[in-house]
Amino acid sequence: MAITHNLGYPRIGAKRELKFALEEYWKGQSSLAQLEGQGAELRQCNWQDQSALDLVPVGDFSFYDQVLDLSFTLGNLPERVRDLAGEALDNYFRVARGRSASDSDCSCVHAGEMTKWFDTNYHYIVPEFSAETQFKLDSTRLLAQLAQARQLGVKAKPVLIGPVTYLWLGKAKDDSDKLSLLSRLLPVYVQLLQQLAGQGVEWVQIDEPILVTELDSAWQQALRTAYEALGQGGHAKLLLATYFGQLQDNLPLACSLPVQGLHLDAINARDEAGQVIAALPASSVLSLGVVNGRNIWKADLNATLDWLEPIHAQLQSRLWIAPSCSLLHVPVDLASEQKLDPEILSWLAFARQKLDEVQLLASALNHGRASVQAALDANQAAINARRQSPRVHNQQLKAAVEGIEASLGQRTGNYAERAIKQAALLNLPAYPTTTIGSFPQTAHIRQARSQLRSGALDEAAYRQLMQAEIARCVTEQEALGLDVLVHGEAERNDMVEYFGEQLDGYAFSQFGWVQSYGSRCVKPPILFGDISRPRAMTVEWSTYAQSLTAKPMKGMLTGPVTILNWSFVRDDQPRSVSCYQLALAIRAEVLDLEQAGIRIIQIDEAALREGLPLRKAQWAQYLHWAIESFRITANGVADETQIHTHMCYSEFNDIIADIAGMDADVITIETSRSDMELLDAFDSFNYPNQIGPGVYDIHSPNIPSQQQIVQLMQKAAERIPPERLWVNPDCGLKTRGWQEVIPALANMVAAAKTLRSAQ
Ligand code: GLN
Ligand code: ZN
Repeated sequence: MAITHNLGYPRIGAKRELKFALEEYWKGQSSLAQLEGQGAELRQCNWQDQSALDLVPVGDFSFYDQVLDLSFTLGNLPERVRDLAGEALDNYFRVARGRSASDSDCSCVHAGEMTKWFDTNYHYIVPEFSAETQFKLDSTRLLAQLAQARQLGVKAKPVLIGPVTYLWLGKAKDDSDKLSLLSRLLPVYVQLLQQLAGQGVEWVQIDEPILVTELDSAWQQALRTAYEALGQGGHAKLLLATYFGQLQDNLPLACSLPVQGLHLDAINARDEAGQVIAALPASSVLSLGVVNGRNIWKADLNATLDWLEPIHAQLQSRLWIAPSCSLLHVPVDLASEQKLDPEILSWLAFARQKLDEVQLLASALNHGRASVQAALDANQAAINARRQSPRVHNQQLKAAVEGIEASLGQRTGNYAERAIKQAALLNLPAYPTTTIGSFPQTAHIRQARSQLRSGALDEAAYRQLMQAEIARCVTEQEALGLDVLVHGEAERNDMVEYFGEQLDGYAFSQFGWVQSYGSRCVKPPILFGDISRPRAMTVEWSTYAQSLTAKPMKGMLTGPVTILNWSFVRDDQPRSVSCYQLALAIRAEVLDLEQAGIRIIQIDEAALREGLPLRKAQWAQYLHWAIESFRITANGVADETQIHTHMCYSEFNDIIADIAGMDADVITIETSRSDMELLDAFDSFNYPNQIGPGVYDIHSPNIPSQQQIVQLMQKAAERIPPERLWVNPDCGLKTRGWQEVIPALANMVAAAKTLRSAQ
C-alpha cells in the first residue's frame, strides 16, 4: 500500500485570511488572543483540507515565515530584540518587520534581512549568526501546534527545516564560519526530536533542500555529521526531504544518510529515481513528489501511473507519494474562481486539487486504476483538451520563434556610434536626471481602477482620470527640472499584470494568491498559450504624455524575462520558448513606440537575476536565452533611439558580462544603500555603456539630501567616467507619497546641477 502525505500547505488562507488578520493586529485593531485564535482556525481549516492523507504536515503554519519560526525555536534571536518587553510574538514581529503592534511609530529595531527561498518567489528572514551564537530550545510553538493537531485527530507529521540547511540559509554577521556552529546546534535538534517522540510522533519530516545545490566537501561532511548525530535513534523516524531539483553528485550522500526515508522531487528529478532506489537501504521509505508543487496545472495522472506502477510493485508500502515540494508556492483553492474561463479552469489544479490528485494516484496504485476510472478519464480528457486546444497552440507564433535569426537581436551601430547620434538628437546635459518610471499610486488612482472594475466608471471616464494623472505628473517633473520625463504609470496595476492582461495567451485568477513574504502575497498571471499582442499596449499613453512636453518622454515597458519569471508558466514547452514569444510581442511594442516618435524606451528587467537556476552549472544556458530575449525585444530600433533597462538590485559581479551583452544604451540599477561599492563590478569589467546608479533609496521614507546625493555621485564618478553617468532613484516611486517624492527629486536635480557646475 502506497502511503500519501504532504510536505506543507499554504497558510495564507483561501481568501488571504491570514493577511487580513495580521494587518489588523499590527494596526492595533485586534488583540494577540484574537490573532492566535485566527491562526488556530486557519490551521484547522488547512488540516481539514488534508484529512484524506495518511500523514499531514504540522508546524508548517507560520505567522510570518517558517525560517524565522525555526530561529525562535532554536533560541537564535538577534541580540537587538532579546531584552525587549512584550509577548514572544511581539519580538517575533520585531525581527520580521521592525516593529510589533505595541511599539510606537518610531520603529524600535531594524528588521531582519529578507532573501529569496531557493529559486522561488517566497522570501524568508535570514538567520543571523556570529561566532558567539548559542542555541537554546523553545519548542512551545511547535508543541502547541502538535497538541492542537492531536486534539483534532490529525495524523500529524511535524515538519522541520534541517540543521545544515538552516545554517546555509543564515549569515554570519562577523564573517565567522557558520558551519562551526553545527556542533552547538545538533544537541538542540536532538532534544527537539526527543520531545516530539515523547508526544508519540512516529515520523518527522526534516527538510534539507540544499541537497539539490552544488555543495563543497565541508557542507557535504556537515550533512553526514548532522544525520549521524540525529540518526542515533531513540526518537521519531526521519523523512529527509529534498526538493526543487536534482540531487546529482549529492545523490550517494543523500541515500546513505542514516535516516528512515528520503523524499525526492520526482518532477525535477524523475530520472534519478532509479538510481535512488538502487542506492537506498532496503528498509528505507522512498517518498516521490509526483504532483508539481510549483505550478498550477493538472497532473497527467495516467502518465504518472505508467511510471509509478512498476516502482510501486517493487517498493510496496515503502513507497510514499506526495506533491514535489511544499504547496506554499501555489494558490489554495480553484473552487474560489468564479470568473476564470471554464475551459482554462478545467486544466488547472491549486493546492486542494493537487492533494486530490495525490489521493487519486494512491487509490489507483493500491486498488487498481479501475477503482477510480471515472476520475482518471476526466483527468485524461482535460489533459488531452489542453494538449490540442487552439487557444494554447498557434502554429504561426511557434513558427515565428523558430524563425528567429541572430540579426533580430543586433542593432545597426555599435554603442559608440549610437551614443553620438543619440546625444545629437536628445541634447541632454551632463549628469542627466530621470526617474525609473512610476510616480505615487495614490488612493485616488487605485479608487478609479476599482471603480472601473466594478462598473462605476466607464472606460472613457477612467481614461480621462488617468490622463489627468499623467498631466499632473508631467507638470511636476517639468517644475522639478528633470531632463528625461516619464508618464508615471498611473494606469498600471502591476508591471507584469498590466501587460499580461493585454497579451493573448494569458489568464488571470481572482484568488490565485501566493505568499511572497509575511502578509504580502502576489497573484501571478497564468501564461497558458502561445503569446501574441493583438494591439499596441502603451503607445496611446506614452504619446499623450509626450504631447505635453518638449522634453524627451521615456516609453516604459516590462521586459520578457521579468514577465516570464513573475508568471505561472507552461509546463508543456521550455521556459525559453515562452520567453522568446514574449520577446517578439514586446519587440513589436518597442517598434510601435519608436514609430510614434518616442525617442527613449525603457525595458525593465527587474526579475532577470532571480531566474538564475539553483545550480551554477546551468546559469550559462539560462543567461543565453534570457539575454537573447532582451536583445530581440530591444534591438530592432534605429541607432538614434535610446534603449534603457532597469534592474532593482546591484549584485552584478557574477553576471556582468551578460549584463553588458544586453547592450542597453543606459542601465539604471539600485545602489544607494551600498554606497556605490557595487559599481566596482562595472568598473573592473570596463562596462562600456551608460549607467544610472540609484541615489535615492525609494524603500525608505527618508528624503536624501542634496549633499548625500552629490557624495554618492562623486563615488560613482571614481568608478565610471562622468560622461556616462545618469542621476536617478533606485527604483520606481509608486509606493511613496508626493510629499516625499517632490523634495527628494528636488534635491536630486539640485545635486546634478552642482555636479555639472563642478566639471
Ligand atoms: N518602471 C517600474 C516602476 O517604476 C519598475 C519597477 C521595478 O523595477 N520593480 O515602477
Ligand atoms: Zn526597480
